[in-house]
Order: sequence, then C-alpha cells, then structure tokens
Amino acid sequence: MTNFTTYIEKQGKKLNELSNEEIYVALLHYVKEAAAGKEKNTAKRKVYYISAEFLIGKLLSNNLINLGIYKDIKQELAIAGKSIAQVEDVELEPSLGNGGLGRLASCFIDSMSSLGINGEGVGLNYHCGLFKQVFRHNEQETEPNYWIEEDSWLVPTDISYDIPFKDFTLKSRLDRIDVLGYQRDTKNYLNLFDITGIDYGQIKDGIDFDKTNIVRNLTLFLYPDDSNKNGELLRIYQQYFMVSNAAQLLIDEAIERGSDIHDLADYAYVQINDTHPSMVIPELIRLLTEKHEIDFDEAVSIVKNMVGYTNHTILAEALEKWPLDYLNEVVPHLVTIIEKLDALVAEEVKDPSLQIIDDSRRVHMAHMDIHFATSVNGVAALHTEILKNSELKGFYELYPEKFNNKTNGITFRRWLEFANQDLADYIKELIGDDYLTDATKLEKLLAFADNETVHAKLSQIKYNNKLALKRYLKDNKGIDLDENSIIDTQIKRFHEYKRQQMNALYVIHKYLEIKRGNLPQRKITVIFGGKAAPAYTIAQDIIHLILCLSELINNDPQVSQYLNVHLVENYNVTVAEHLIPATDISEQISLASKEASGTGNMKFMLNGALTLGTMDGANVEIAELAGMDNIYTFGKDSDTIIDLYANSSYVSAEYYENDETIKEAVDFIVSDELINRGNAQRLERLYNELINKDWFMTLIDLKEYIAVKEKMLSDYEDQDVWMTKVVKNIAKAGFFSSDRTIEQYNEDIWHSN
Ligand SMILES: *Cc1c(COP(=O)(O)O)cnc(C)c1O
Repeated sequence: MTNFTTYIEKQGKKLNELSNEEIYVALLHYVKEAAAGKEKNTAKRKVYYISAEFLIGKLLSNNLINLGIYKDIKQELAIAGKSIAQVEDVELEPSLGNGGLGRLASCFIDSMSSLGINGEGVGLNYHCGLFKQVFRHNEQETEPNYWIEEDSWLVPTDISYDIPFKDFTLKSRLDRIDVLGYQRDTKNYLNLFDITGIDYGQIKDGIDFDKTNIVRNLTLFLYPDDSNKNGELLRIYQQYFMVSNAAQLLIDEAIERGSDIHDLADYAYVQINDTHPSMVIPELIRLLTEKHEIDFDEAVSIVKNMVGYTNHTILAEALEKWPLDYLNEVVPHLVTIIEKLDALVAEEVKDPSLQIIDDSRRVHMAHMDIHFATSVNGVAALHTEILKNSELKGFYELYPEKFNNKTNGITFRRWLEFANQDLADYIKELIGDDYLTDATKLEKLLAFADNETVHAKLSQIKYNNKLALKRYLKDNKGIDLDENSIIDTQIKRFHEYKRQQMNALYVIHKYLEIKRGNLPQRKITVIFGGKAAPAYTIAQDIIHLILCLSELINNDPQVSQYLNVHLVENYNVTVAEHLIPATDISEQISLASKEASGTGNMKFMLNGALTLGTMDGANVEIAELAGMDNIYTFGKDSDTIIDLYANSSYVSAEYYENDETIKEAVDFIVSDELINRGNAQRLERLYNELINKDWFMTLIDLKEYIAVKEKMLSDYEDQDVWMTKVVKNIAKAGFFSSDRTIEQYNEDIWHSN
C-alpha cells in the first residue's frame, strides 16, 4: 500500500492544500481501496447475524486502526499541518440503531472479522437513522438524521431480490459496508438491504411521514413511532423485508458454496438478535418448501438446526407480540406457515402460556424463536438466570439444553485504542501490546496497582481527557465544562428503569445541601446524555426536569462553584467516545433485574472510571471481577425486586411520606424555582408519577444511593486509593472484550470453522 501522501500526489494534489472535507473523502476512498483488496472469510458454515439495528458510529478511524495505519495517517496529516481529529469531524455518524442492542451488534461484527470468522451482519439501510435530538425550551425535539452522502462507506452491489407482500412485490437492493478485522488479511460485510424507490418527500414536519406509502418509505426511518396501527404495520413490513432478503441471500450463498439444500444447516447459521428478525424462521421454511421443493417436515428440521435466539430484555412491553390480523394484512403467505408451526407446538406442549399463538390471536415472536432454535441465550449471567428461573421458566423446563449465557462485550479497538489513545499508549508502555489480541493480558496491570508513579500518570491522562472533552463540548454542544471537577456521567437511553430520575433527585438533594451551606470538598459535574422515544411521555418529562435543573443550577453563582449539571444534546456513539475517557464516576443505577447487561458500564470500566451501580446486569460480573472493594454498589437486589413485583407490595408514597430527605427532593420538582422556568404540566406529571406509581421503584433505593455516592466523592480525595481501584478495574476489564463473547458464541452455538 502506498502511503496516503503519495496516494494524494498521484492524483496531482497536495495534502497541505486540501480542505478537511477533501481529505476525509480521499481517506474514505483510500480505505475502501485497501478493503477491496482483502479476501472474504470463507469457512464452510457462515454466520448471519440478523439485526434490525447496527449502531456502527463513525467508521474512518476504526477502519484505520484495524488496518494498522492510524498512527501513520495521523502523522502524515500532522506533517501537512492537518489534524486527524478535524478530519474525523467531517464524517456524519450513521445512527442505524437506538442504543445498546445496536451497538452490541456493531461490536460483534468487528469481533467476527477480527477473529477471522465467516460471519456477517444483515440489516436495513435506513436513510434516516435514529432521530436527531434538539433541545428547545428545555424539552426534547426531534429532527430527521440524514447520513448518506454522495461519498459514503456503502458499496453498492447488483444483488436484488423480489420480496412479496400481500398487495405488491418490492424489489430490494443490497449495499454493503466492508468490515475489516483488526490486522487481518480477510474481511466480512455488513449487508444493508434497501428498497429502490425511497422518497424523501414523504417526510413532513420533524420526523413525521406518511406511514402508509410503503413502496416509498420502507427504509426511510429506523423504528418509526409504533404507538399507532400504521406505525406497527410499517414495522412488520420492515421486519419481513429484512428477513426475506436475509433468507434468500443465505440460501443463494450456500448453494454457491456447494450446498444441496438438504444440508443447508451445514452451510449457514442465523443468529436472531432480539425478536425483530424472528420471521426468518417461517420465511426460511417457506422458501425451502415453495422454491426448493423440500417437504414441510424436512424444512422444519433443517431450520431447527440453524437458528439461535438472543434475548435482550425481560421488560414485557419489549417482547413483540404481533396480532395475527396485522400479519395477515402484510404477509398472509407467512401466516399459514406460522399457524402450522403453532399446531406442531400444540401437539407436543399443552401449557397455554408456551404456545406461539395465544387466545387473543397474537403471535409471540419469542415463543416461536425458542421452540425452533438450537440455542436461547441471555446477555449477562444474572439476566440468563432470571430468564431460566422466572421470565422463561416454562421454556427452560421444556428445553434446558437450549439455554445458555453469553455475557456481552465491547470492541477494545474502538473503546480504548481509538477513544482513549493516551491511556492505550501508556498501557502498552507498561505491559506491551499483546492485550490487543488477548484482552485478558490486561491483568498484567495488577502488578502496578499500588505504584504511585502509575497513579500520577493515570491522573494526568484523565485530566488531559477532561481538557479534550471541555474543547469538544464547547465547540459542539455549547457547554462550558469545569475540567477541575469530578466528572460523574450517566449516558444511555432515557428510560424509567435506568433511573435517570433517581440521579436527578440526587442533584436536587445536593443543590439543597449547598444552599444550606453544606459544601462539597470538590466541585462535582453531573453529566447526562440520552434520547427518549418520541412516544414515551414520562421519559420526556425526566429530560425536561434535568434541563430545568441544569439551567437553575449552572446560573446560580452560589451553587455553580460546587455543582454543575449538563444534559448533552444528541447523545450518540461520537459523544460517548468523548465523554467516557474523561469520566470519574460511571452511573449504572438501573432497578435490579431490569438491565439485561448494559455495555456502557464496560466501556467506563475499561477507561478508568469507577462504577456506582446496582447489582444488575453485567454490573454483577464487574463486581466479581474487580472485587467488591473496587466498585460502589447499593440498592435492593434482584430477588427482592422480583418478589416485590410478584406481590405488588411496593408503595412509593410510603417512602415519600416517611423520609424527610426523599420528600424534600421529590417536592422540589414542583417548587416555584422549577415551575417558573419549566412546563408545569410535565413537572407535575412526573411528581405525581413518583408519588403515586413509580413503577420502577426510584424511591426504594434513593437514600442508599445518596449515601454511597457521598462516600465515593469523599474517597476520591485520596487519589492513591482511588487509582489503585482504577488500575484493578482496567486490569480486569479484559473479560468484557467482545472478542471473548464472539469466541463463546462460535464455540457453543455457531460452530463455524
Ligand atoms: C454503549 C452505548 C449504549 C449502551 O449504553 P448502556 O449504558 O449499556 O445502556 C447506548 N448508546 C450508545 C451511543 C452507546 O455507545
């Protein structure tokens, strides 16, 4: 490969005379050419990771790192007087996902390539990704988020399929994105299917559009608001379009590699990421029987050997149940097959709660997956235990051998090598670079846990990251960050179970304390980031509360010397890459049993933040690995919470009425200070919700949360003790590499080689 400067000169140009935009486009082509020269992975059994979401983030730097040329390019640009960070800024972030689930899928395709596994992502090429979040009048507003430009990472193909719906047939097109493994000669693809007739004219106000014109809008938006029937129907159209394309691609490719169709399961394995791709099961059966002359029973047994299902949540509202009537309106040819599968199950299994189609004629997608998959996995040890012992207990008793755990992971290339370059360099200085291919090698850092020189250097890196974050927030988000404060960060989707509202109540408590003259030893900056689903009213109310608090506190000269609150607009992967390396305290405070795993918690651990968290999701494994002395836990455990739900015995008003600290903080939501600068309806609704319902039990853990957070803040003052904990966390973070997760999927489920 010629170096980039020569590549530019061959085109008759000079690097130092190009704009950042021109350099970005030139680098894009440079990387795409390098990728085009790589061979596809070829193992006989190919993995198809089907997912409605791939929250890939920007790709330039990740690709440069995986090609092993990031530092060279950075230096070449520097010599020409250019900054790689400014070139990175030019790229638009493709937000083809909502949050953790989509980010996980993206880490997984990176790891599959890095391990040389023949495994690809299959999803949809949404023209507008997750909405862009804008704050006006202290409220969230939504705007369309375009990301496809003339020059993008998409590589067009001439692959196209006919996708039959009840009233029309759509032609698909396939665009691919090359997925380069870390320092590998081979590659895989992210396959993104699209329609040919997308019409941006369908978009009206904000992210509103005509949801009935499927032929023009099928891939226009990620997850349109599904709170009404037309939204739900569009979602079914999207899901079927995605899986029919995936199934046709998979069969074509298997035949091309030598399958005689009867042995299809030897050539392909489908991982169903949450229930959105579940219709791939009946669709594969349909294609095998209708197009490939295989009889129904054999088709079922083939498919039963080639799919696995990953469960991501125990929140009932997230387990999809489509009315049979809706499916009949969109894909009647699939309904006949789903009914046959339901009948097959009914012959063997009598328990009504385990059927595919229930008494209200709704299709339980997860039930279909579990009956017809070889494997059912949860995404953290605790989550898998909850699935086995309560949520999916009946299924576990039926098929104990199918259930297994695959604790989530993150790719260290993006979340350490790229996002925290100074820390990565320092780690290499201390222990070498073999942790890049075997993350457990980070444990060699344990030898430095008590080393004060190492502590001082880590403090310096954290401080420099805070300075870099300060510049980023000032230039991009209109936020003035105090780099000398403790940075306490909660970034994730807004949801009541994640309990941003509990953190907001802490902020109120702290504000009132400061007003009373109880001043903290050091200034604290509480940072939030996250989007709320447009149809989720209470989550919007919580955003509103935080924005009002931010305005009140940051503009109060008495308080703002000790406390700042920021809600960063439009949280996405890029924002996360800036915030995480600068953070001291990682807020992972979901109600126990509700967060399946979390992956943000892993990113923070790897980047030298200490966790303040409940014993939920992968926090439990963080605690086990790092040791209870090196994590700050609080709150009721998952068994207690599950019992409280089972007995309906949590009454939030009791906590409110019996504790002065809780009452005072909750009452402040409707104080004059806030009502005068906010929307009274939103604040009152949130206040009433907390006192009268509080479904996710904010108040049950509030007192302990405040106490443990205070302890953490005071512990921070002894930097040697603090940094010992930090080193132990980084040293034990290797387990959370998605390379480990993917190796386990392949070893236990996919058997691709
Ligand atoms: C990692 C990540 C998430 C998931 O965060 P959790 O704290 O695990 O919910 C969501 N969004 C983005 C942009 C991320 O990078």
